Amino acid sequence: MAMVRAYIGLGANVGDAKATLTAAVHALAVLPGASLAGVSRLYVTTPVEVADQPDFHNAVVALNVPAGPGGPGATGPIALLLALKSIERTFGRQDRFRYGPRELDLDLLLFGEERIAVERPEEGRSPDPAKATRLLEVPHSEAGRRLFVLAPLSDLAPDLVPPGWTESVEQARARQESIEGASAVRPIARWDSGSGAWAGPES
Ligand code: ADP
Ligand code: MG
Repeated sequence: MAMVRAYIGLGANVGDAKATLTAAVHALAVLPGASLAGVSRLYVTTPVEVADQPDFHNAVVALNVPAGPGGPGATGPIALLLALKSIERTFGRQDRFRYGPRELDLDLLLFGEERIAVERPEEGRSPDPAKATRLLEVPHSEAGRRLFVLAPLSDLAPDLVPPGWTESVEQARARQESIEGASAVRPIARWDSGSGAWAGPES
């Protein structure tokens, strides 16, 4: 079966975020047909949009996944999104306001070279306009404006120019760093594939 390289953004700021993200990497690695292709450094990041909440932990995972098809038994991007939402629930994610605290956030940042925009079915639309986002948009609409995404993504794919972008991931990271300041995202640990965990000074 044809495989595609997907990049998934991970974030958490409720509970033991480092432990949650470590467990989430292992949950992603065992998705049907998937194999782990890389894990970024682990970052502690200053919250954006809603400042009055704990710092986040963020990372990005590269995953090789089946390219498709859709429909029953689907293995394509929508199936992957639904799998991400299911893992979020497994880790106890509660529904709160947008940009607010969360046990685990998994965003599908990139799915190969694909540009995808899938509208939400009528009954699935949130009355809250801040939450009325598309069911699936890839590349993720905010990936290019968020240092907490660009820094870990640049660990894995600095030279990649995502579909629809006019600059590489590393160029976007450097531009966003000049806006947010280098201290907005602080790497604290490297992924150690031998032990399957981030190894760093933080316990
Ligand atoms: P946030 O935007 O802070 O990540 P949520 O995790 O609650 O907020 O996501 C809101 C909605 O965004 C999800 O229900 C999902 O349907 C939609 N969405 C659209 N594109 C994507 C994507 N590429 N990855 C993840 N969710 C997406
Ligand atoms: Mg999300």
